[in-house]
Amino acid sequence: MECIFCKIINKELPSKIVYQDEKVLAFEDIKPKAPVHLLIIPKKHIPSIDQLREDDKELIGELSLVARRLAKEYRVSGTGYRLIFNVGKDAGQTIDHLHLHLLGGKKLLWA
Ligand code: AMP
Ligand code: ZN
Repeated sequence: MECIFCKIINKELPSKIVYQDEKVLAFEDIKPKAPVHLLIIPKKHIPSIDQLREDDKELIGELSLVARRLAKEYRVSGTGYRLIFNVGKDAGQTIDHLHLHLLGGKKLLWA
């Protein structure tokens, strides 16, 4: 298995896990771009939103709910936060395992 995030899920690679359940894992981004920068991923390997199937739609809802929960835990709910799915080359997607970025803790610029 080549996928870095699958390796993180299987504990073959270390990470700072901040949440997990049956279907979802969340961990700290190794190169944080904001004071709070977490990655929320499905345990199922889906390359990106572009490969999402009809029966994965509930999973995306779960990622959002985990994001909301973590935003609260990391105390950025009040000040606000940003959730991002990068999809493909022009968006700068570097890891082909679907992930939701949660960024917060500072005023975020829009690129
Ligand atoms: P993207 O550019 O949307 O594909 O985001 C990939 C993110 O994964 C980047 O923000 C990286 O800093 C992060 N990343 C890469 N490798 C690791 C790792 N081993 N542990 C945690 N985060 C990672
Ligand atoms: Zn994977």
